[in-house]
Amino acid sequence: MQKEIIKKHTKIVATLGPVSETVEILENMIRAGLNVARFNFSHGEYEWHERVMQNVRIAAKNVGVPVAILADLQGPRVRTHMEEELEIEQGETVRIFDVSYDNAKIEKIAQDEKVIILDCPSIIKELSVGNEILIEDGLMKVRVVDIVDGYAIADVIDGGLVKNHKGINIPDARVPLPTVTKKDYDDLAFALSQSVDFVAMSFVRDGQDIINLRKHIRKIIGEEETMPRIISKIECKEALNNLDRILGATDAVMIARGDLGIEVEPSRITILEKDILKKSISHLRPVIVATQMLASMEHNARPTRAEVADVTNAVADHTDAVMLSGESSMGNYPVESVRTMSQIASETEISPYDDVFEAMSLTFSSEEVNIAHATYDFSRELDAQAIVIFSESGYTARLLSHFRPNQIILVATNNQKTYNQLALVWGVHSFLHAGECSRKKCIDQTIKEAKSKELLHSQDLVITVLGSTKAGKKLTLTGSRIT
Ligand code: PEP
Repeated sequence: MQKEIIKKHTKIVATLGPVSETVEILENMIRAGLNVARFNFSHGEYEWHERVMQNVRIAAKNVGVPVAILADLQGPRVRTHMEEELEIEQGETVRIFDVSYDNAKIEKIAQDEKVIILDCPSIIKELSVGNEILIEDGLMKVRVVDIVDGYAIADVIDGGLVKNHKGINIPDARVPLPTVTKKDYDDLAFALSQSVDFVAMSFVRDGQDIINLRKHIRKIIGEEETMPRIISKIECKEALNNLDRILGATDAVMIARGDLGIEVEPSRITILEKDILKKSISHLRPVIVATQMLASMEHNARPTRAEVADVTNAVADHTDAVMLSGESSMGNYPVESVRTMSQIASETEISPYDDVFEAMSLTFSSEEVNIAHATYDFSRELDAQAIVIFSESGYTARLLSHFRPNQIILVATNNQKTYNQLALVWGVHSFLHAGECSRKKCIDQTIKEAKSKELLHSQDLVITVLGSTKAGKKLTLTGSRIT
């Protein structure tokens, strides 16, 4: 078996699918740098999700590193509801109905006109003349020119073949569905029964959506269990308008460029990505850049130069993670895609273009922030190889990561969820110490394990933060060479 360790700080999220479901492939993906396994609940049966989640856990254990499991809820997605496929051409006119419309009337109109049905009741009421309706990731586009008798008439701007169950985006209309739909609640209950580490919420509109979801999750799992962390997917205009409130409420962020690139002009996407990255980092929210990062690797073994530039750009902007979608779920090169991302991340991080100082401002200050900053300065001055800490909730680890130090951050924890959740956090390697273990002992054990994994070597200088920042407790910062 090939043994590969590509040293990188940036984490990799990969969506799983039919090409990446076996323990063997998953082990290879993990060795190539996979940190978080994403399950997209827009697709797949529970039986499949359950089986593959188990495979991820087995593979992670076999390789000996934490891999987090992320359940991505579909959210308020409108889709086509077509009994037959329909060819539409530029310059034609189509009639748009929703599923609640009288079927007999639709059939009568369909004898003379081209008809598209949407699966969301009441969506027509939200439309106005001038609204653009994008079909199947924006492949086709129609513009509403009139609304009569409860249906819309639209001109075809970009034609194509309208198929059943394809996603619809209407950037300037409010979708009359709650942010968490009935399907999402069912999927969430299943995901929580599998003890997932992250829940991603699609089409988040405001901070309150996240507060409500967190309360709902807490009710289901009870007071004792560690919460999965909530990732807000930024993919609609409303989320952009309410970004500060979303960042205040969420645990982490995904820049979901697939839908975002349909809801706003594609020419704005990279600038928006940079804005969201900067704001997420300054709010101490781990952030993922997602979608079409290495899209051509679904079919080719090598990425395009533009794709390499895209990943490089996100890494140089200090993203916590970059994400694979179709490349790792249904492409021909799932392992190679992960390896390619790891190599690009690694090259970028050691280049002079990865300027850490850009990322260092925070929207708040506290004693913990000052201590993390001092640890960062101390480690840099001494040119240490690693910072080692104990962290129960992962908060101290995220604070240290925020400064994007050159050193690897080794985190000893006694909490299984924290161990997994830190897999998303830039530069962090976590180590689980189950059962009773003093902080000092856990840290010593972590250094030993890091050495056996070749993350550390004899004579490396390690900065250890020991103690607690809680009032009255002593905190010690030590630099020592390991034997
Ligand atoms: C996206 O739109 O970029 C995205 C990640 O969401 P999904 O794949 O769930 O549509």
